[in-house]
Parts: sequence; C-alpha cells; structure tokens
Amino acid sequence: MAENIKLVCPFCVKEGRAEPVEVSPDFAWVPALLERWVPEWARKEQGFISLREAVAKDARLGALIVKRNGRDEAEAVCSKHGKILRTAKIWTTKLSVILERQAKAADRRAKEAFGSIGSILAGQQATVAAESQGVEPEGDDAEAQARAEQEDAQRRTLAVRKAGKNAEGRKPKAQAKGSTKGRSNSAVRREIDAAMEA
Ligand SMILES: [Zn+2]
Repeated sequence: MAENIKLVCPFCVKEGRAEPVEVSPDFAWVPALLERWVPEWARKEQGFISLREAVAKDARLGALIVKRNGRDEAEAVCSKHGKILRTAKIWTTKLSVILERQAKAADRRAKEAFGSIGSILAGQQATVAAESQGVEPEGDDAEAQARAEQEDAQRRTLAVRKAGKNAEGRKPKAQAKGSTKGRSNSAVRREIDAAMEA
C-alpha cells in the first residue's frame, strides 16, 4: 500500500487552506501536463485536454504548473478539485496510479541496466538505460535536454584534453557514445509515455 503524502492543493491554498493535508495517494489527482498523456479515447470521445492545452486557453491555469529541477511538472490537487478539473475536461490521473507505474518502470530499468552492465564490462556494445530520478511522470524533454547538454560539455572537455595531448586531434570516442545515448533517452521516454497512458 502506498504511503500517505502531504498534499498542498493549489486550489485549496487559494481558498485559504494553505496547510499541507495528509492524504492517501488514492485521494490526490495529477492533471496530465502533456497532450500525449491524455488517452486517445478520452480526447476523441469526451473532449478531454491536457493541462498545457488548458493553459493555452486560460493562462491563469499556469498556476498548476511548477518548475522542479528545471522542468515543468503538474501540481497534484485534492479529490474535490480533481473532480472540478475533470468536469472542465482536463484529464487527470490518480497519484497512486502514477506512483505504481513509476515504480514498475524503475524496476524495469533496473533489470535492464543490470542485464547491460555485464555486457559493458565484457566490452560489448550496450547502453545502460539512464535512471530518471524524477518523482513526477513528465520530465522527459527537459531532462533529456539537460543530459544532452551535459554530455556535450563533457565531449568538449574531452576533445580539448585530447587535442592538448594529441596534436592530431582525433575524433573523440565520446562522440559515438553520444549517438547511442539518444536511443536510451527515447527508450526512457517511451516508458514514461506507457506509464502515463491510462
Ligand atoms: Zn483542493
């Protein structure tokens, strides 16, 4: 059973209840930030939209998006206000469901990584799926970008170092590594997508 969480519903705060409320993740709801997290049937048959689309219609709803670790995340809301979001046709997912999917995805990644490390140590070509530390489900794009930037910086450092050591300036090996990393990121993204699909 999932542990209780301390929920600060942004709507409740506006109504004057700023204190965090301890609730089961079964009673907290997270609006779908991205369009692709709204199930196809819900969009087509019932007209549900994502939080980003909702913000495009009314910028005030941007209060439901927070930046954590440099990426956008949707704030969880209480049951009462989750119901209001759904009535307004903004797709929501129960926090407990998201947590369960994240745990499964993390477990899968751990198994894959475990399977890969032997191959890497054996000198075979393999990519260890990058572990996502994010608590929230969305975080693929910004995270992938941050990682790409970091890798780029590392590559450049490596290139400079190599150029210093070796006047010929051969192409750094990290370049090849960078290209496989793109695959690993998209694999992670697919997992996150799969986790978000209801
Ligand atoms: Zn509330």
